[in-house]
Amino acid sequence: MKQSALCSQLFVAPGNAGTAELGENIDININDFIAVKEVCISKNIEMVVVGPEEPLVNGIYDFFKKDEALKNIVITGPSSTGAQLEGSKAFAKKFLQKHQIPTARYREFNTTNYKEGIDYIQDHPLPIVLKADGLAAGKGVIICNNYAEALNEFELMINQSKFGNAGKKVVVEEFLDGIELSVFVLADGKNYVLLPEAKDYKKIGEGDKGPNTGGMGAISPVPFATEHFMQKVVERIIEPTIQGLQNDGIDYKGFIFFGLIKVNEEPMVIEYNCRMGDPETEVVLPRLKNDLVELFIAMDRQTLDQEEIIIDANNAATIVAVSGGYPGEYEKGLPIDFGYLENPEAIKHIDADGGAMVFHAGTKVQNEEAVTNGGRVLAVSGVAGTLGDAIELSKFILEEIHFDKMYYRGDIGYEFVD
Ligand code: AMP
Repeated sequence: MKQSALCSQLFVAPGNAGTAELGENIDININDFIAVKEVCISKNIEMVVVGPEEPLVNGIYDFFKKDEALKNIVITGPSSTGAQLEGSKAFAKKFLQKHQIPTARYREFNTTNYKEGIDYIQDHPLPIVLKADGLAAGKGVIICNNYAEALNEFELMINQSKFGNAGKKVVVEEFLDGIELSVFVLADGKNYVLLPEAKDYKKIGEGDKGPNTGGMGAISPVPFATEHFMQKVVERIIEPTIQGLQNDGIDYKGFIFFGLIKVNEEPMVIEYNCRMGDPETEVVLPRLKNDLVELFIAMDRQTLDQEEIIIDANNAATIVAVSGGYPGEYEKGLPIDFGYLENPEAIKHIDADGGAMVFHAGTKVQNEEAVTNGGRVLAVSGVAGTLGDAIELSKFILEEIHFDKMYYRGDIGYEFVD
């Protein structure tokens, strides 16, 4: 957005040490819509891009549209109903089934049909997937390899509120065996544009070992997302989704993230997100050559059908540097040394010849220096002619960055490079 000629001023709430260099950080709670409204009015803000899912599920889009002073501001939503595609797994599964979009077979259970759930699980082939219905910060999915574990988790979720209210309803579904990728569109309620696809790496350890994280790296394009496969994705998944939203009268102007799995050459939906994802965004957006602000304006006017998406043929890879201990306990407030990258001229923008960019995540400015402020601290994206070179470039930049106990995976993209 900062690169757009249409963006005269950029505000970021709450922001971090990286965004402080691109615009003005605003220290507010983004789920406090009254506080967001006050900032929009006092700063004369004309466009609001909502990053995370929580304010969307809480209805920030609807709040803007109902308010006389805010309703003309461009806001990348969906409405709170549209955000249920991410906010409720049961809602998403019903939507998928209703519109005949390929997904795993499932049933939903709560306290009222708990006993039926036990029978269903006992008769279900293994492995079996249990999902807390609501938002559970990425922790609500449990893949069980035996019945004892499945029954125990089922009881913990429904009767003992393991995930609070988010898990009082449980989706029980069949396990899909395949390879995952993510596909992104920007939708305007009638039309959509297809953005580059990505594959992320969720496990903390090299070789995809150890516990899940918010994401340790990503690549784009995805080698197995061939033209033929992507055509199936468009016809069987994306178009029925856009059409389904329209038919169901769901207001949806914003990003849709399709978490897909390729099973025997066929794409199936694992999940929807109502926003872009991190770290996928850090490989998708560097390959998107359009002016992002212009696309948001077209989204607001419902003229995305007139936009031509320009995708860089280069490969992008991003590698996330995390704090030692993450995803368990870790320290915060560790000073980050950027070496020669401290010089703003050190990394030029990504252009037709490629390049690199550092994206901050869990960082903040303290006593005029950047310190860590979260588990996933920053991501370095490299863009180059081959995936191997993009990964090498990202690692080369990472070698210049230091903080105590910094860790990153050295094998992002490993299945696709020699
Ligand atoms: P979700 O929160 O729905 O994205 O699920 C988290 C992860 O669990 C996914 O990225 C998959 O790796 C895995 N997963 C979810 N549902 C299934 C399924 N039906 N079969 C196999 N893996 C699944």
